[in-house]
Amino acid sequence: MVAMSRHIKNNYVQFFLGCFIVIGVLHALTVGLEEKVTSFSPLLFPMLTIFLLVFHLFIACFMVMKYWCDRQRLYLLAFAFAYIGSAMLMMGTLSSFPAWLDMYQFNVVNYNDAMIFFTFRHLLMSVLFIASALLYFIRNRPLSKTFHLLFIAGATIFTAAMVWLAWIYSSYSPLLSLDLVDNETRQYMLLWKQEINTVLILCWVVSLATLMIITRVRNMFWVGGNFLCVCYIATLAMLFLGGHAEDITWYRARLFETVATLLIIFVLLYDVFNLYRDSHLKYQQSYQNSIRDPLTRLYNRSYFYDALNQSLRKANEIHPVSVIVSDLDRFKRINDNYGHLQGDKVLQFVAQLLMDSVRPQDIAARIGGEEFVLMLTHTSSDAARQVAERVRLKLSGFDRTSSGGQLPEPITISMGVFTATSSKTSAEECVECADKAMYEAKETGRNRVVVFR
Ligand code: GH3
Ligand code: MG
Ligand code: MG
Repeated sequence: MVAMSRHIKNNYVQFFLGCFIVIGVLHALTVGLEEKVTSFSPLLFPMLTIFLLVFHLFIACFMVMKYWCDRQRLYLLAFAFAYIGSAMLMMGTLSSFPAWLDMYQFNVVNYNDAMIFFTFRHLLMSVLFIASALLYFIRNRPLSKTFHLLFIAGATIFTAAMVWLAWIYSSYSPLLSLDLVDNETRQYMLLWKQEINTVLILCWVVSLATLMIITRVRNMFWVGGNFLCVCYIATLAMLFLGGHAEDITWYRARLFETVATLLIIFVLLYDVFNLYRDSHLKYQQSYQNSIRDPLTRLYNRSYFYDALNQSLRKANEIHPVSVIVSDLDRFKRINDNYGHLQGDKVLQFVAQLLMDSVRPQDIAARIGGEEFVLMLTHTSSDAARQVAERVRLKLSGFDRTSSGGQLPEPITISMGVFTATSSKTSAEECVECADKAMYEAKETGRNRVVVFR
């Protein structure tokens, strides 16, 4: 418990330290830029907004797709709604800066409208961030389909209401009005300065606190989420201290938001990369399990037959394919005298020896209890017999000590060799012929290699 709370405290300390450094660097960068550039292009702000809008749409799509893959994570939908709503409200902001589309209007800026869309965007996002944290808190509870549908309906209504309200308050509608900036003097109105700016800061502080307490900044995803909250607080604090609507702090605010958004995008991409890596690893593991024998890790019967059939298609006099069927001699006795566990160890030892005795392109498989088979491509009958002899001699040379206790006593093997020199030979015929040769080896005294004639 103590270790856990220390771990959480460490997370918080590291997080705030990271935020302090990143925001400090960004701040220094903007100050440096401001010293070099005397006045910014009027297109810069709408262009940054377009970038941000595209990023937010990208994140929203990503969150919906992630939710689609894992319906347990309803909190992702709350994020999706936050970013969709934000993108829609940013379209409102863009409409207040018509210069990005119509070059003859670069002097026409409705700062009050831009501020209204900005205010509703922050309200919408901070509320949905809190909703997301709360949904994350109950992520392990079985939530009914009705709950999911109700949440989607509620979030849709809330997002639509915020966009609608922003539109109603903006100059596009004569129904209601909200004076946050004086469009003539570019000065902030008291309503913004004294109330709305503070309310927005408070909203993000509550969001940050909720996210931090619930998520405990436990992974990169939540580092991104929490960092965005910190960036918004810093941004709004700068606006609070800034003088007017054409102030440089707006560019700073956009830069901060863009960096925080980029961080979230990187986290999402990193998540996808991790998922891909994990699923690829699991696929590899399950594929290997499906083609290998669990006890010896040699290839299994079906894989061996597939591989042999494939190699036989190209078999001819110049490129013969050899098959060696092997059976341990008097193996039952090992089981009877030393137990099955020791018997398994012997099988594993022989399997390793077979694997080590062939080339990487050859196939060593276990096709029965203590029956093994080797497939040697481009190997003549004589060369295959030599390989079999080598294995037989090597195995018979081991005793308890030299095998490190794997063999309780010296053990021998009988082997039958068959070589296919035509593509007409089937895998079953190959194994049958090698098997016959192996039985001949058994009948003629065991511990020997017989080549099928
Ligand atoms: P030989 O082949 O020389 O005629 O004699 P053998 O004693 O080896 O003959 P047999 O083929 O009848 O015996 C095979 C034994 O292999 C029987 C079975 O108990 C044992 N066996 C089969 N699969 C396994 C396994 O996975 N683990 C262990 N420990 N033993 C196995
Ligand atoms: Mg046997
Ligand atoms: Mg057998």
